[in-house]
Amino acid sequence: MKKIIMTVIALAALFSFSCSKSNDVIKMGTNAAFPPFEYTLGTEVVGFDVTVSQLISRDYGKKLKVVDMNFDGLIAALQSGSIDFIAAGMTATEERRKNVDFSEPYYLSKQTIIVKASDKTVASVNDLKGKVVGVQAGTTGELFATEEIEGLNVKSFKTGIDAALALKNGAIEAIIIDELPAQEIVRRNVELKLVDDDFYTDEYAIAVKKGNTELLNSINKTIEKIKADGTYQKLIDAYMPLDGDVKIVSIEDL
Ligand code: GLN
Repeated sequence: MKKIIMTVIALAALFSFSCSKSNDVIKMGTNAAFPPFEYTLGTEVVGFDVTVSQLISRDYGKKLKVVDMNFDGLIAALQSGSIDFIAAGMTATEERRKNVDFSEPYYLSKQTIIVKASDKTVASVNDLKGKVVGVQAGTTGELFATEEIEGLNVKSFKTGIDAALALKNGAIEAIIIDELPAQEIVRRNVELKLVDDDFYTDEYAIAVKKGNTELLNSINKTIEKIKADGTYQKLIDAYMPLDGDVKIVSIEDL
């Protein structure tokens, strides 16, 4: 009898331990191929969104776990509950609002065009007509290229880096992608250049499962607080420095 009671107590302890353990963690879904917002450094996922998410988790009283996956799988993962929120430079579009709730916007971006440095045919988005254009699957760049501008031959890639490789080896003629990852791609590839044109604005926001207002309110509070107390500007300066010398921020140092 004593043995049984001991076993029951041990099992109960184990059970509550594993429960409290998973309850202590909040999972951020992202696609770590989108610098400076999220990218890998060795085995670690780092970037602006990761640091903001660490601050969100701290305020929410939980430990952050970053889950890296394809961008076009993020919303399904949120809906199935395998992640708690998405921080992935995700644009708060009306279409996505049908399936998720978005925080207040935390970053204003836009779509940009990348072509070969030697290209003299593309000065604006209209010059892409008839060309083979690479985009990232499931992004606003893809949406714009397929739905808002006619006459493009659109090819979708898992990441902007894959699209950049295709552009370099001549499989595609241009890329439409968010501004900061585009700048990073061009910085790393002298044979590519940016085309200066304004045609699509992206407001990045954090997504939670529809109806999860408790988490959403907490996220909004953190965003509001870091914007007001100067932390947000420190993160911009660190992850988007004008000289290109990015510094990874530890939240303990903020
Ligand atoms: N901002 C774009 C979108 O929401 C791209 C985001 C990304 O590729 N991480 O679709």
